[in-house]
Amino acid sequence: GRTPLIAGNWKMNLDHLQAVAFVQKLHWTLKDAAHEDGSVEVAVFPPFTDIRTVQTLLDADKIPFALGAQDLSTKDAGAYTGEVSGAFLAKLSARYVIIGHSERREYHHEGDEIVAEKVQAALRHGLVPVICVGETAADLEEFGAAAVPVGQLEKALDGVPADADIVVAYEPVWAIGSGQAATPQQAQDVCAKLREVIGQKLGADAAERTRVLYGGSVKSGNIASFMREPDVDGALVGGASLLVDEFAAIIRYQK
Ligand code: 13P
Repeated sequence: GRTPLIAGNWKMNLDHLQAVAFVQKLHWTLKDAAHEDGSVEVAVFPPFTDIRTVQTLLDADKIPFALGAQDLSTKDAGAYTGEVSGAFLAKLSARYVIIGHSERREYHHEGDEIVAEKVQAALRHGLVPVICVGETAADLEEFGAAAVPVGQLEKALDGVPADADIVVAYEPVWAIGSGQAATPQQAQDVCAKLREVIGQKLGADAAERTRVLYGGSVKSGNIASFMREPDVDGALVGGASLLVDEFAAIIRYQK
């Protein structure tokens, strides 16, 4: 089976000093939790400026959280002021990188073409892209829930090899930070369709193996209902990933 992945996207929160305090507290709170025996994978996605510090802490204290970045450049190196290469992230032992988050699509005008280039950049450096897709409230009204995320994923997977290690996150834009999560059934329906896309583009093995996450107002009170769905393999958590007890409770959903 697929190992569930509980991922905390910190967005632009927690400086590197706050990050140390947060990760230490979270680790302490989780001492006996399922992630310690590998039955649930936990990943944190700090801002770029925290990654080196968090990596050092995870290493030194043998804390079993995976590390990810929130973005990367389409390019590997060169005259691209302000950009961060996947090569640098890989050197810091980052395993994951979020690509195509709706906040990047909206505020940084990243379209499907850039998302696809970033997926390729991640794979070139051995990073696992966490490909985010999701419909806006207007899309939902006009096209229903699945059409836009399905189209976004099809484009993101162009040129991705069948054996690539990827994660897909379904994040309906209307559910992000709104307190209004999708229903478990809505999440299941779209995640199942996204798994079909993975099957069509990368084959049956990839569809079986790849984790599809739900994101959007995930809390300790609703995580279990999402995790009961057969095609939801974890969660990409924003606001609730910044609260130690709340995020720990999400990670412990099965207990
Ligand atoms: P919230 O959990 O704050 O709704 O954010 C979800 C998200 O965007 C994670 O990437």
